[in-house]
Amino acid sequence: MAEKTVVQASNFVRNIIAKDVRKGKSDGQVVTRFPPEPNGYLHVGHATSMHLNFGMAHEFEGRCNLRFDDTNPEKESDEYIQSIKRDVEWLGFDWGQEEFYASNYFEQLHTFALELINTGLAYVCDLSPDQAREYRGNLTKVGRDSPYRERSIEENLDLFARMRAGEFADGERVLRAKIDNQSPNMNMRDPIIYRIRHIDHHQTGNTWCIYPMYDFTHGLSDALEQVTHSICTLEFEDHRPLYDWFIDHVTLPSGSRRPRQYEFARLELNYTITSKRKLKQLVDSHTVTAWDDPRMPTISGMRRRGYTPESLRNFCAATPVARSKGVTDFGRLESSVRDDLDSTVSRAMCVLQPLKVTISNWVQDTTETLVVPKHPKDDAMGERQLVMSKQVYIDQADFAEHPEGKWKRLAPDQSVRLRGGYIITCEGIIKDADGKVTELLCRYDEHTLGKKPEGYKVNGVVHWVSASHHELVNVRLYDRLFSHANPDGNKDIDFMTYVNPDNLRFIEGAMAEPSLALATDGERFQFEREGYFCVDKDSTTDRLVFNRTVTLRDSWAKKG
Ligand code: ATP
Ligand code: MG
Repeated sequence: MAEKTVVQASNFVRNIIAKDVRKGKSDGQVVTRFPPEPNGYLHVGHATSMHLNFGMAHEFEGRCNLRFDDTNPEKESDEYIQSIKRDVEWLGFDWGQEEFYASNYFEQLHTFALELINTGLAYVCDLSPDQAREYRGNLTKVGRDSPYRERSIEENLDLFARMRAGEFADGERVLRAKIDNQSPNMNMRDPIIYRIRHIDHHQTGNTWCIYPMYDFTHGLSDALEQVTHSICTLEFEDHRPLYDWFIDHVTLPSGSRRPRQYEFARLELNYTITSKRKLKQLVDSHTVTAWDDPRMPTISGMRRRGYTPESLRNFCAATPVARSKGVTDFGRLESSVRDDLDSTVSRAMCVLQPLKVTISNWVQDTTETLVVPKHPKDDAMGERQLVMSKQVYIDQADFAEHPEGKWKRLAPDQSVRLRGGYIITCEGIIKDADGKVTELLCRYDEHTLGKKPEGYKVNGVVHWVSASHHELVNVRLYDRLFSHANPDGNKDIDFMTYVNPDNLRFIEGAMAEPSLALATDGERFQFEREGYFCVDKDSTTDRLVFNRTVTLRDSWAKKG
């Protein structure tokens, strides 16, 4: 557990746990778990779940198990397992020795299933999936009992053994719990506990061709792992009676413990999606390049984009653990990233859309090295060197031939300071045949290095690089992944419709100050006036590639 982790000042889950500990429940021990299914990469929603589960375990001096809920082999893979471990670790959460797999318990779960058959509480059902759906009813119509419900224990044992032995095809038969088909809670209408899948499993190979269902597996795995507080999201509230039913109707081996399930509202972030299944669609359709595409709200995507573990943990700590659904503004995540990076990363200058400036009174072929701090408020970070020369580049956006309103940058006969350098005044403009400004002619004031100008006004400060001393780099500027605040909000409209077509702007050949030539993979900077950037793994020895992690201010708010 990372030292710096702060857990919410107050949350209802903590209150419940604190009370249990006070009352000496479970001998005052607290065991939680983080139970991802390895069917995709972890996303920002999982970060809040981890933060809560690992955070509570840490605070109450208990432990948090990492459990792979691997009951759907066709959707799972070792790649996902490895990515999940990498992401949990990177976020700073430590599961110690407690790495478990639901598949570790397949034999035990099978024994529980046999026990349910033997006590008349489970039966093999031959209804086809369509028939079963029809029998089950719906929210307004109660279900009907399956015609196979009253099979004898012997027949059920025999059929279940043959299911396990591989005698039947996928979907031909299932094992169901015998609970209550009239229950208003659909989950209690004789739920399936085992289904046939002739498919190898990433952990158990070809040992099994029947696999237990999630609801059956989850609570019993919690019990076997001595979990005390099984914290999940609100969608599982209606599953809680079933969670308890399984635990109440099997004989738990010694060393097990009765867990309790608690639900909190899942994190919903606007302008994005937090569902592994849907994120996979973005990957599979090549809408993004991979799970770790920096546009993705996956932990690996956010890492590649330049987010820090601290910024994500701080975001989680500031997100209330709520009992009812809500939507969190994406801007909150970004401001948490800004807050962290502001104090920790070096400043640098990079001109994204270069405009050439020739300094008429600078002596040709001479240069001057300017030494500036890496961080305006933290001298300990050291210094960097800039080179001033006869030709420099500023950003096209920092010049206007006919400025309007309170223009704070360069214009004809106006002056600006080159950040960390001299003040220049624009004396002439060169245009191409189309009337586009291609070069500015300026004078510099040799008395203004680190000093105020005498007798004239300066519009502002702009970033710049030397024409002779800079590094060409490629830059990726990201915008919202979706153009709709709630892309998944309408059942009748495919969320893919709302993918923002302009979610990536690629700039080839931006000009960075020379100190950036030594930047290494993953290194972060603030490009002055442009935002926070991080070196992408696509960089080559010839050309660095930078991802914009986040802009300096919330520009979304005004774009609306
Ligand atoms: P997904 O729909 O993305 O697959 P899931 O809930 O099926 O989500 P799991 O791998 O089963 O994903 O989740 C592992 C844990 O993370 C669970 O305890 C789950 O409740 C929690 N979790 C998943 N998504 C969120 C979210 N958006 N906010 C908070 N917790 C989440
Ligand atoms: Mg799931």
